[in-house]
Amino acid sequence: MQEVEVDPRVRQQLASLPSVSAVLAHPSLDGVPHALAVEAARAAISSLRSRLLGGDKVDLEGVFKDSARRANLARKRRLRRVINATGVVLHTNLGRAALAPEVVEAVVEVARGYANVEMHLEGGQRGGRLEGVSDPMRRATGAEAAIAVNNNAAAVLLALTSLARGREVIVSRGELVEIGGSFRVPDVISAGGAKLVEVGTTNRTRASDFADAITDDTAVLLRVHPSNFRQVGFVQRPERADLVEVAAQYGVPLVEDLGSGLIGPPPVAGMGLDEERVELALQAGVDLVCFSGDKLLGGPQAGIIAGKAELVRKLRKHALYRALRLDKLGLVALEATLRMVAEGRAAELPTHRMLGASLDSLRAAAVDLSDRISGSTVEADHGVTGGGALPGRGLPTWVVVLPDSGCDRLLHALRMGTPAVVARVADNKVRLDPRTLLEGEASEVAEAIRAARLQCAPTG
Ligand SMILES: *Cc1c(COP(=O)(O)O)cnc(C)c1O
Repeated sequence: MQEVEVDPRVRQQLASLPSVSAVLAHPSLDGVPHALAVEAARAAISSLRSRLLGGDKVDLEGVFKDSARRANLARKRRLRRVINATGVVLHTNLGRAALAPEVVEAVVEVARGYANVEMHLEGGQRGGRLEGVSDPMRRATGAEAAIAVNNNAAAVLLALTSLARGREVIVSRGELVEIGGSFRVPDVISAGGAKLVEVGTTNRTRASDFADAITDDTAVLLRVHPSNFRQVGFVQRPERADLVEVAAQYGVPLVEDLGSGLIGPPPVAGMGLDEERVELALQAGVDLVCFSGDKLLGGPQAGIIAGKAELVRKLRKHALYRALRLDKLGLVALEATLRMVAEGRAAELPTHRMLGASLDSLRAAAVDLSDRISGSTVEADHGVTGGGALPGRGLPTWVVVLPDSGCDRLLHALRMGTPAVVARVADNKVRLDPRTLLEGEASEVAEAIRAARLQCAPTG
């Protein structure tokens, strides 16, 4: 240890730092569970000591308030509600799709007690775990069969493991994509124990490249939606119909990772969302499609695999399915969402409502929000959708712009509030996009901004 000259006054303050027991005895920690209070007191004392040694001028009394602040922070649940004012509808960091009220009701009902997860109530016999998924999927998409697992990454992994373990999977070089760090197509193929066979080039691949690469060892032709990027210029992606033809000619199953699966008409027109439509892929003759439950479908986190009954059965029977299966909460949320879709009520899902919101209604919502926030203005803007569904294709929107300087402090105060509010920054100004606000949240945002401004105001 290095010898340090310590100022005598600092030395004296160090000596009079309150003990842990003194902090615990202070009323500011009343009612805090003992273990938490001890942890908070220790952290507050230690922080004060470091600041003293670092030459800061400190008030020893501040340790009580700091302990209480730390204890309160630690008592808050880690995962809690956030108001999404970013306008990013499928915000992966904020949990993607918001569930419809009737879906939430179904989750609450099933969460509270027991449910017939694996029991046919009619005859009392065992079974039926996936019928709530497969029935509406059949009705909505014409799929012969469908199963659901934890997420789409799990769905693709299960499909490749079940169908191609120890054999070859052919993929276009233009579709060897990475979706947010932990999902890279080549890695998922090797995790499934299959051998990747790349065909074509980065920018151009033809169906004939697939045909030329087929051997006795080929188990799957894989088509992957390039969710989060776009290629422009001299590019060619094999047509789905041409791949279906090749697959049929050689008797090899065609599996398509749609990424963001959509059932029924797109919530926004003119954005090429037909590529992601599950029923169109199945009608075209794709043998199996995999897609997420919480992207354009607008449901809970899940991965759905739909298509030929014989292949789906194979996946359902694989040992890996058991490790990737959904719990009752995911199952009931997915069934309730799929039922709404199958009944033609997808437009009622929050994800679809947000994506389909008209510019007029967004402008009215922005004006309403701005009226509640002093000094704010309303501006036309270009939002982003997120979730890998609409790469590089922001939706035009209207936002509320705050005049405040010191964005970082304001954003921090907003995130730390209850409820937490997450906003966007551009040109050094905080922007609030009403697209992703749920009913009643405008007044909460206005209140949160008042509170955050008070906290950020310079104090004497
Ligand atoms: C989003 C996405 C995935 C991963 O889906 P999760 O449900 O997040 O696991 C896989 N493939 C594609 C093409 C995607 O867009």
